[in-house]
Amino acid sequence: MDIVKANMGWIEVVCGPMFSGKSEELIRRLRRAEIARQRVQIFKPSLDDRYSNSEIVSHSQLRIDSQAVESAADIMQRIEARTEVIGIDEANFLGNGLVEVVTRLADLGKRVIVAGLDTDYLGRPFDPIPTLLALAEQITKTLAICMRCGNPAKFTQRLIASDDLIVVGAGGMYEARCRRCFEAGVTPEARQKTVSTEA
Ligand code: ADP
Ligand code: ZN
Repeated sequence: MDIVKANMGWIEVVCGPMFSGKSEELIRRLRRAEIARQRVQIFKPSLDDRYSNSEIVSHSQLRIDSQAVESAADIMQRIEARTEVIGIDEANFLGNGLVEVVTRLADLGKRVIVAGLDTDYLGRPFDPIPTLLALAEQITKTLAICMRCGNPAKFTQRLIASDDLIVVGAGGMYEARCRRCFEAGVTPEARQKTVSTEA
C-alpha cells in the first residue's frame, strides 16, 4: 500500500495461530497510526475477556486501549464519522456478519486492520477470516514456534478435552504446533488430563 491517495479505504488482515504475534502486529500498526495523529478506533469481542475488557493485551504484554463489542453490528454502531483507522482483534469470534461491516467501512474510506485465527482447533479454515483474506488489499500470515520441536508453527493445538468450536483460553489450554506435530481434535493425553483434573 505504498501509493494511497486521499479518501481511499482498504482492508488489511493479520492471521495465523495463537501465539504467532497477531496482537503484537495489530498493536504495532495501530500505534504507528496514532503517532501519525490519525483517528483510531479499536475493537475486540467481549467474549474474549481473558485479560481485560478495555484493552487488547498481547501474550508479550503489549497493550492498547480497545472497546469491547458483542457483535460485528455493534462495531458499526460505535464508529465515529471522523475515524480514519479501525483495528479489530480476535475477529474469528465475531462471525460472518463481520464481512459486511469491514467491507462497508473500507468502502467509506477507512483503513480497516483485522487480526484473527485463520484455522480452528481441528485445523479447518475459521470463518470469517478466509472470506476476509479474499476481500483484503493486504494480508499477513504470522507463524509461531512449535512447542514440541521448535519449527515454524501454523496450527493451534488444543490441550484440553472439548469438542466446542470456541473455548476461550490461553495458558495451558492451547499451544502452537507445526504441521508435523499438530494432532487434530482432542488427543488422548488431553482427555486424560481433563479427566484427572476433574477427579
Ligand atoms: P497472538 O495474538 O497471535 O496470539 P500475541 O501477539 O498475543 O500472539 O503474542 C506473541 C508473543 O507470544 C511472542 O512475541 C512471544 O513473546 C510469545 N510466545 C509465547 N509462546 C510462543 C510460541 N510458541 N511461539 C511464538 N511466540 C510465543
Ligand atoms: Zn513441531
